[in-house]
Amino acid sequence: MSTNNFGRRITLKAILASAVGSAATLAFTPAQASNKASKAIAGYVAKPGPNGAQCSTCVNYTPTDSMCMAVTGVVSPSGYCNFYAPKN
Ligand code: SF4
Repeated sequence: MSTNNFGRRITLKAILASAVGSAATLAFTPAQASNKASKAIAGYVAKPGPNGAQCSTCVNYTPTDSMCMAVTGVVSPSGYCNFYAPKN
């Protein structure tokens, strides 16, 4: 190996180490780390919406843990948000 290749390898290692270090120091809140919207952004309210629309009849609701696939945190089965999508 020539000196130039060795120097290039050292430089690449330095760049990779720097990139990994930068990624490790980025701060994410739980809401940023997921693809879910906050309750405020979704317009979530803990009561049914128009025409009785509510989480328990929404495709995004998972009743086993009272979670929503679109909105962060626990949601009420009788809650509602602007992302409501009725089950069939
Ligand atoms: S997307 Fe559906 S389950 Fe999730 S909070 Fe809105 S209405 Fe409830």
